Amino acid sequence: MLHFRSLMNDYHLKDLSSKVKSVLHAKKKSGQYLAAYAPYGYRKSEEDRHKLVIDGESAAVVRQIFQMRQSGMAYGKIAAALNEKGILPPRWYWAVHYGNGSCKYSRLWAYATVRSLLNDDVYAGTLTQNCTGSRSYKDKTMIRKPESEWISHEGAHEAIIGPELWEAVQKINQAAKQISANNTPPQASLFTGKLVCADCGHPLVAARETQRRKNGTVKHYTSYFCSRFATTGHSICSWHRIFEISLKNLVLSEIRAHGKAVAADEAAVLDKLKQHIQSASAAQQEDCRQEISRLRRRLEELEQITAKLYEDMYSKTACRQWEPQFPL
Ligand SMILES: [Zn+2]
Repeated sequence: MLHFRSLMNDYHLKDLSSKVKSVLHAKKKSGQYLAAYAPYGYRKSEEDRHKLVIDGESAAVVRQIFQMRQSGMAYGKIAAALNEKGILPPRWYWAVHYGNGSCKYSRLWAYATVRSLLNDDVYAGTLTQNCTGSRSYKDKTMIRKPESEWISHEGAHEAIIGPELWEAVQKINQAAKQISANNTPPQASLFTGKLVCADCGHPLVAARETQRRKNGTVKHYTSYFCSRFATTGHSICSWHRIFEISLKNLVLSEIRAHGKAVAADEAAVLDKLKQHIQSASAAQQEDCRQEISRLRRRLEELEQITAKLYEDMYSKTACRQWEPQFPL
């Protein structure tokens, strides 16, 4: 009986999910804007919440960003220029103008924010929806849908960027994408995930450069630099660049020095290693002991609280039982 009931519930949920999805799909097909928030530069119309209208202040910033890109500025440089001017990034702008005035995200423009803004065709007046969705009604994991399922409406709202500027910027973006694709190494860089910035503690990211020499030879160089510096468009922290070849030499010389020490006196190196491991495990044991005693104290506290709660509850119930049934 129980299995049959679960089967019916499951069937009902599946049916409900497909009905909701088909209604949303029809709304998207008709050109209604269904996302929770309007994109930066727009706001939802007061008369029709499914229609986008231009938001004067942020739209001016969008125009400025497109003009900066047209003049040849890189994504990171644009982010840095906006940060220098003290212009709020999209999430903060929304929170200040339409939300509660605060937001948990960074107050800085990042490289990725500028890049996605400059590639978003919403600014050319096109509304593209149905790009993402959940895997199934049982699994809410967000997935990116294939381009064939996207629903686009040209001229769905007023464009912030004119067709000439839009086309010019898209050409620059495509060229930049090609350069970065050519420079992307076929596999992850050797030290990725192992280096952090000495100043801000953020991980260092790898970048590959291609150098074409006059004699026709092509050389690739990999270097690592602070990811915080890269994402905020150089507004915070500094470059701290180190070439992979220098790191390789450093690591190699360290390995060689250890090898030499082992060859010279193996027993001494083994003793040193043993001491090191013992001291590390002693420190670990001490940490564990402290954690155990802390948890024991907390357990006692919780037992006392539970006992007190039980007593309070018991005395309240007892009092209620002794209350007179009728007013005297
Ligand atoms: Zn840093």
